[in-house]
Amino acid sequence: MSDYRDFHKLTTIIKIDGFLVNETPLRIGTGREPPLGSIVDIAVYMIDGLPCIPGSSLKGLFRSYLESIASSMGYKVHNPWDDNIIKEETKSGNFCPICGIFGNTELASHVRIYDSYPKDGIFHKFQKTGIAIDREFGSVKPGGLFTEELIAPKTKWIFKMDIINIDIYPEKPIDDDRVKLLKILFQTLKSIGLSIGARKSVGCGLIKIEDAKWHKYELHDGFMRMVGEGEVK
Ligand SMILES: [Zn+2]
Repeated sequence: MSDYRDFHKLTTIIKIDGFLVNETPLRIGTGREPPLGSIVDIAVYMIDGLPCIPGSSLKGLFRSYLESIASSMGYKVHNPWDDNIIKEETKSGNFCPICGIFGNTELASHVRIYDSYPKDGIFHKFQKTGIAIDREFGSVKPGGLFTEELIAPKTKWIFKMDIINIDIYPEKPIDDDRVKLLKILFQTLKSIGLSIGARKSVGCGLIKIEDAKWHKYELHDGFMRMVGEGEVK
């Protein structure tokens, strides 16, 4: 049984702090709606003058990557909004590890991923002119030039994530597939990276994690105390 409904009892929070680096140009899309007065057709998503990788986008990326890993581990992976399976999981108290990490409509998420902004506000945008190809006919659309904005490679983004009540660090043998999955996630982000945002098919948006550390906090006498720290490997 994997009943992950443990929020009545907060035992541990593990805080992950590090940086994401985009190895290739990056754009988290605002779709085709540029800001008013914009000189480009497709703009970078900005908040208060800074580009932002929303925590929700990172969470979606991590979830879908770990879904593919979980299914190779033999789990029946399901759509996060599949009401029938979620009802089944809730009734039996036997949740899949993906819901056990990211939550579902009935179960709170055990991870919190914060919006990510460039370190010290340092970033460069550049523009690229593209040719709009008609999706159906594969031909150039009439008047089909457009400009898009991208964030230059090697931008360093502040990465923050909380892991709640999942005992991933310090490393020890543990019978919890969520730990296995989260470790695979961090190893992937450190080695080959994962792709986020627009134009992934042409290699854009490849992000890796750097200099990530964990701090573990436990509840003692009503206070969260730091009980350990280390490097995310
Ligand atoms: Zn599930």
